[in-house]
Amino acid sequence: MIDRPEVALDDLYREVVMDHHRRPRGRTPLARVDAHAHGFNPVCGDDVLLSIALDDERIVGIQVQGRGCAICTASGSIMAEMLPGRTVSEAEATSEAFRGVMHGKLAPAGVDLGDLEALEGVQKFAVRVKCAMLPWVTLADALRAWRTGGAEATSTTEQELGR
Ligand code: ZN
Repeated sequence: MIDRPEVALDDLYREVVMDHHRRPRGRTPLARVDAHAHGFNPVCGDDVLLSIALDDERIVGIQVQGRGCAICTASGSIMAEMLPGRTVSEAEATSEAFRGVMHGKLAPAGVDLGDLEALEGVQKFAVRVKCAMLPWVTLADALRAWRTGGAEATSTTEQELGR
């Protein structure tokens, strides 16, 4: 597992990423799980198991389990911190904006990426983009499964990059 985010990130951002890596948020089991998905990044070995609780169209809880490198763990931790309270479409807009940033675009006006901005430097390292995107790809799968009435989905970032 590659575990040296310092090659990609400047000091300020590294602090944010390392804080999320050391004390990942969203590890507490949810009282109720409405959707879950499993994501795997074979390039790095990152493994994400995502559980989500929803009230209608609003995300009320996220649990992130699994093992990942610092970039993947931080990305999942930031997601678990920022999404509860947001609607599904707001979460999808955030995910889309983050995906754009990871591919060298600017975040659209009106979308607050919060601590995700700390991962901006990762865009220079294609291999690490998969690490940063894995929790978000897994989120998309969980929401898709929830919409279609299924509870579970699986994907890898290999598929994500082919879309
Ligand atoms: Zn990784």
